[in-house]
Amino acid sequence: MSVRPEFALERWLDKDTNKLESFAWPPGYPIYYIDGFNSVLCPDCANEYIKEPDEDQRFNPQAGDINYEDEFCICEKCNVQIECAYPSEENNEDQE
Ligand SMILES: [Zn+2]
Repeated sequence: MSVRPEFALERWLDKDTNKLESFAWPPGYPIYYIDGFNSVLCPDCANEYIKEPDEDQRFNPQAGDINYEDEFCICEKCNVQIECAYPSEENNEDQE
């Protein structure tokens, strides 16, 4: 998969802590990550891989991007929903 340079993983990697950011500051947009299989990863799962790289490339984050409008952005590893920066008002009710 080809990643646009602005979405390269390095952009979101905090070099002091060696952790991937969860939010893009300012103004704090939620970030999601993509692995080599085009699966969505939440920042927690992406950081797990960074901390303890696995031979399994399945959840190896390759790129990160801001989730502007995808209200159904789900991490494929832990199934957590990644919030979006601009949820539409109709779907703003809590679904749980
Ligand atoms: Zn996850």
